[in-house]
Amino acid sequence: MALIEVQDLFYRYKDGTVALRGLSLTIPRGKKVAILGPNGAGKSTLILHLNGIHLPQRGQVLFDGEPVTARNARLLRSKVGLVFQDPDDQVFSATVWEDVAFGPLNMGLEPDEISRRVAAALAAVGMTAYQDKAPYHLSYGQKKRVAIAGILAMDPEVIILDEPVAFLDPQGKDTLFHILDELNARGTTIVIATHDVDLAAEWADQLIVIKDGTCLAQGGPELLTDKQ
Ligand code: ADP
Ligand code: ADP
Repeated sequence: MALIEVQDLFYRYKDGTVALRGLSLTIPRGKKVAILGPNGAGKSTLILHLNGIHLPQRGQVLFDGEPVTARNARLLRSKVGLVFQDPDDQVFSATVWEDVAFGPLNMGLEPDEISRRVAAALAAVGMTAYQDKAPYHLSYGQKKRVAIAGILAMDPEVIILDEPVAFLDPQGKDTLFHILDELNARGTTIVIATHDVDLAAEWADQLIVIKDGTCLAQGGPELLTDKQ
């Protein structure tokens, strides 16, 4: 069974903008997935449905075969970790350690388990040396890694990153994809949303192309090479 299945999803914002119009796609388990589409295609709106921040107005999202509803959306948020484009939207605590501990603390875990998870998450993104620093003083790429650690500490089944390399320098980009590949190798499904065709073609083993709120195509990397 697919990890996530999106079926005929519609979403209209309060101002009347229709962001998703009958979107259907499948996120396979354990893969490196790129959701590819131009600005305004509906990627961010879709992602907000994948972890229950937005609920379907029409159609449905199935996680492990279970429809996402207002009742299970909270649980979903610990299984589907979302890394926003701008780390300043999710990194806000006084220290890096506290920031990464925020999610597991909210999950009501025991202090020992929280410490273990925070330490492991910081090690996974190479930020252990910064644990007592204020996130405010970190570089953009470092903040992004702290944001990822905060998600990792919740031990999600899938991590979704919105435009992961926006504003990262080439080295920051290499570091980030190295981290994502390591996580994937350990079994975490990784999804990125991007408008960058080259990035998607280079990194993903599953591509989902969306435009104007619908899915144009889904398949392996040959999807892009065939067209060139
Ligand atoms: P999208 O809806 O495509 O995900 P956003 O709403 O997150 O895009 O961002 C819209 C635009 O704002 C981006 O394309 C970028 O030009 C700009 N932007 C977003 N975050 C930052 C940032 N941290 N620094 C500078 N510009 C930013
Ligand atoms: P992408 O992430 O691919 O850039 P978005 O999901 O951000 O696409 O946007 C899809 C459409 O929804 C766009 O037309 C965008 O302008 C619109 N949109 C996004 N967020 C809002 C919002 N909060 N209110 C109204 N319209 C929105």
